[in-house]
Amino acid sequence: MYQIQDFFSVKDRAILVVGGSSGIGLELAKALGDFGAKVAVLGSNPDKCAAAEKTLKERNPQAIAVCANVTDASAMTQAFATVATTFGKLDGMVYSAGINHIEGLDTMDLADFNRVMDVNLNGFVLSSKLAGDYMLEQGSGSIVCISSYSAFRGKPLYTAYCASKSAMGGFIRALSVEWIRKGVRVNCIAPGLIVTDINRKEIEANPDSFQKRVAGIPRGQAGDVADLVGPTVMLLSDAGAHIIGQTISCDGGTTAGDMFVMESNKADVLGGKK
Ligand code: NAD
Repeated sequence: MYQIQDFFSVKDRAILVVGGSSGIGLELAKALGDFGAKVAVLGSNPDKCAAAEKTLKERNPQAIAVCANVTDASAMTQAFATVATTFGKLDGMVYSAGINHIEGLDTMDLADFNRVMDVNLNGFVLSSKLAGDYMLEQGSGSIVCISSYSAFRGKPLYTAYCASKSAMGGFIRALSVEWIRKGVRVNCIAPGLIVTDINRKEIEANPDSFQKRVAGIPRGQAGDVADLVGPTVMLLSDAGAHIIGQTISCDGGTTAGDMFVMESNKADVLGGKK
């Protein structure tokens, strides 16, 4: 007989959420702790890390926070060692650290382009390598990176962000086949628009363009951080055992299609809303 806990359980698994002191990463860490995982979050801001640790410990006393910048290899090595020593193992790593720089390439200082690549892509490469040090030795583990619909769709002024997210797809496809026979799975989740610190200022400053953007999402609403909990648990648990090297969209239909319809068909598709 099938039992839900045989498939979707993360109970007692040691899981590190890099970029977990706010936004999507913190919400995922809360959920994983609620489901009985031993959760650690890693962030670069000591105050945000302390606040996240307090919030997480209130829900699951096993939770810890470690502080490191994802671009600092020696601080990251130390942080991963602290987590693995505290929990005695590392079963899962979620990479949710990310930044954006919105500017045309013609005026952009390439240092800004490279900063986005360093945090979004190279920080994930380093984190995967560090997670691999523990997971390959154990012969088991699951790595999940939070990518973006920008891995699949271009946007003006987003060259750095789109390049970093689409490069993740190639990286995880190669790494996943490299490591799967050693017991380590690697996948990405690609969210659509979700209001968090990464875009809040821009959205609050431009409420009309936010509404227009939401109207173009097939589901008719922006995502919620909680929408990513299900797919993340699936990939970290045994339910995802046969999912290897995939970027799974969780975007309200953003990459499935758009909501353009001819005027004469609008009522059929949008329920009379023009
Ligand atoms: P957020 O700004 O709340 O979270 C980003 C996290 O990354 C923060 O905790 C921040 O402290 C951490 N971080 C940034 N630079 C770091 C560094 N150098 N070292 C260590 N940590 C660092 O935003 P979010 O929306 O939660 O973003 C999480 C991930 O989701 C990002 O990769 C983002 O690209 C992706 N994403 C977000 C959306 C959205 O609409 N919010 C959509 C698609 C993908």
